[in-house]
Amino acid sequence: MNQGNEAYAERIRSLAPTEEPERQYYFIDVMKGILLAREEELGRKLTMNIQTFGCQMNAKDSETLAGILSSIGYLESDSEEADLVLYNTCTVRENANTRVYGRIGYLGNRKKLNPEKRIILCGCMMQEPQAVEKIRKSYRFVDVIFGTHNIYKLAELLFEREISGSLIVDVWDKAETIVEDLPRLNKYGFKAGINIMYGCNNFCSYCIVPYVRGRERSRSAEDIVEEARHLAACGVREVMLLGQNVNSYGKNTEGGITFAQLLARVSEVEGIRRIRFMTPHPKDLSDELIEEIARNDKVCKHVHLPLQSGSSSLLKAMNRHYTKEQYLELVAKIKERIPGVAVTTDIIVGFPGETEADFEDTCDVVRRAGFMSAYTFLYSKRTETPAAKMENQIPDDVAGARFKRLLEVVGEVSSAQAQEFEGQTVPVLCEEYKAEEGLMTGRMDNNLLVHFPCEEKLLGELVTVKLDVCKGFYYLGTLCSTGV
Ligand code: SF4
Repeated sequence: MNQGNEAYAERIRSLAPTEEPERQYYFIDVMKGILLAREEELGRKLTMNIQTFGCQMNAKDSETLAGILSSIGYLESDSEEADLVLYNTCTVRENANTRVYGRIGYLGNRKKLNPEKRIILCGCMMQEPQAVEKIRKSYRFVDVIFGTHNIYKLAELLFEREISGSLIVDVWDKAETIVEDLPRLNKYGFKAGINIMYGCNNFCSYCIVPYVRGRERSRSAEDIVEEARHLAACGVREVMLLGQNVNSYGKNTEGGITFAQLLARVSEVEGIRRIRFMTPHPKDLSDELIEEIARNDKVCKHVHLPLQSGSSSLLKAMNRHYTKEQYLELVAKIKERIPGVAVTTDIIVGFPGETEADFEDTCDVVRRAGFMSAYTFLYSKRTETPAAKMENQIPDDVAGARFKRLLEVVGEVSSAQAQEFEGQTVPVLCEEYKAEEGLMTGRMDNNLLVHFPCEEKLLGELVTVKLDVCKGFYYLGTLCSTGV
């Protein structure tokens, strides 16, 4: 696809609008022409495959990247044999980087068999200069590298790759602007994520995110509500508002509204039936937010509240700005003011300096907070973070044994919590259909899952289901009514 023509490239660039997103729509059109010409030569359609690693923010970015590629004309494929493979990387755990290098090596071998193949790397790992340097040296067959701040430029970067025929690297230290209204390929037609802010100011001592995603920037409430309206018009029933610390929403924006006020604004959008959000930080979860969740029928009664550790001294070393007691008080307040709420959490085991007593504190919080579920992680040393330089790193066997013990405690607590709903009839959103078994998987307001027999045509609909039997972490149920 290399046009090999600098004069042509110069003319294309000179005609490009300077404003965004108009500029990117222009490059999407240019790339569409280049792709069509190539497909005619080859006598087949070209395909793309996106692999997403890490968190919900990356999943949302991947929908935008897929939207851009599909607007160019690439057909989606499930396989990494596709003509264009894009890795949206995560760098929260160091061993994830090693896995990505292995997979890039595999893609390089496949590229020898398919000269059309393009390999594109983006996301948090690409914000690390060492990672980019290693790829430049050892994986010279990669086509485009960009970071977390300029994903909107994908079409333009692809154009530059086609013109130059060589690797294009465009990684920014910080975001210059938030670009709205890009195309998007929604994975599920009925639910979608909406980024409400980017970056994080918290610098938890184990976390690389503030270094690779930059400082907090909030989108305007108008843009967020407009995106929710657009999604509702496309059939989306449930939105998940996404940010590394949603409590900070609007704080860095002149005339900004609070996150609780944003929830109220989004809930006014006709067609949106459910609103979820991820993730609040326990240190500044406001009473105003608790009241909004309690009063607003559209806001799901589910609060994911990362604990990380139950030991006050470890929380201090983690730079989390709350104590064990403050966390427990907060959970008690949430449960008192929001009847039926599910509280879920994240926990790290084996943080540097964790003693047996610290670990027991964590188990104690799990029991007393009564989590509906918990994502448990073994501490993973992340170079460039303060925790990586701490002494008293915990030996793998000790951390592993504690991790197993914690899983048992979480299992007991969570299944006891889940049992409480047996016999109730509740609204659920039909999310996944298994044709072989004729079973639908639906999600309740409190995030629990229920499997029940029904027809595929109800996928994406809100229905009511009787919760017959609790199977530990999920239910088996019977469909009661549709069109809720
Ligand atoms: S709040 Fe802490 S853990 Fe979460 S992204 Fe920010 S620094 Fe990382």
